[in-house]
Amino acid sequence: MCLDFVNTLDDRHFKPKELLETYRDLARFAEDTGLLNSSQVDRLSERSDLDPEGAREALLWARELREAIHDVFWAIINKRPVPPGALARLNADAQNAAGHMQLVPAAHGQMKGGFEWSFDDFRDFDSVLWPIARAAADLLASDQLPYVRACFSKTCEWFFLDTSKNHHRRWCDMTRCGNRAKVQRFYVRQRKTRS
Ligand SMILES: [Zn+2]
Repeated sequence: MCLDFVNTLDDRHFKPKELLETYRDLARFAEDTGLLNSSQVDRLSERSDLDPEGAREALLWARELREAIHDVFWAIINKRPVPPGALARLNADAQNAAGHMQLVPAAHGQMKGGFEWSFDDFRDFDSVLWPIARAAADLLASDQLPYVRACFSKTCEWFFLDTSKNHHRRWCDMTRCGNRAKVQRFYVRQRKTRS
């Protein structure tokens, strides 16, 4: 999910397209990824209409966090030193998120009878960022880190977690980028054989 968040700046190296133009976009992202339910999204979206300045501030904050997460994982994927400023930014947001977490009895699933971490009620504009920062921090500290990839397509470079068995996945999505690349290779070959 934190990698999907990075992808909300689409085609970032060639023709960047901002998918988080308004606070409502951010709330919708949170709903699509299951961070918030629809009533929480409605409440935050309505509040963003009443307090556009506060919502705008949270949106800019969100984009900054996104770029920090991008810079950290980009460095790791490319085996470069992680920029200290980006890591500090992620750390600050992860610490802030931790301040809004509490242990509650687990409501369902395998954990029933145990406890789970839960966030405070999502009332503040920036509350959407808590689980995102937390997820990025958890991924960095997990054994899944080596499987974070950037899509092979140079016009995509979306981040994804390669959960395939052999960890040889190259495209964010076979239908989105894999096929496009295959078609391109096909055309190049055709042109070569014709000329
Ligand atoms: Zn892709």
